[in-house]
Amino acid sequence: MIVSLHVATGSAAGALVRSRALALLLGPPLHVAGDHVPHEDIHDRSFEIGSGLVALGLLAARRGPLDSAVLGGAAAAAPDLEHLWRWVRPRGKKLFHRGGGRHGVGVSTETQLLVAGAVLGLLAGRRR
Ligand SMILES: [Zn+2]
Repeated sequence: MIVSLHVATGSAAGALVRSRALALLLGPPLHVAGDHVPHEDIHDRSFEIGSGLVALGLLAARRGPLDSAVLGGAAAAAPDLEHLWRWVRPRGKKLFHRGGGRHGVGVSTETQLLVAGAVLGLLAGRRR
């Protein structure tokens, strides 16, 4: 699943629970759940990293860096960092991406971007 949608789902959960600790705890399982939905991927690492950082930066600017939505978004996107770790250690075991998941079919990248943009827009637009 694309990084910005991971950020969006984690942020939405964080905004709902209004607890930093809970937002951080919910992030990684949300990530795994999202990856289990059949989906297309964006095979452009710099776009993925860039859009994730922009999404988090926008939320942090609007809601404050320690807002539960920002922390939830960061926690939900964090498991994808192990793709970068894989780059450093090609034979290292993956923790969050073991099942392989279903890729290349299912929710299109356009739909994911649209949903991510809508959710993030809503979260960034609404002040606490
Ligand atoms: Zn992932």
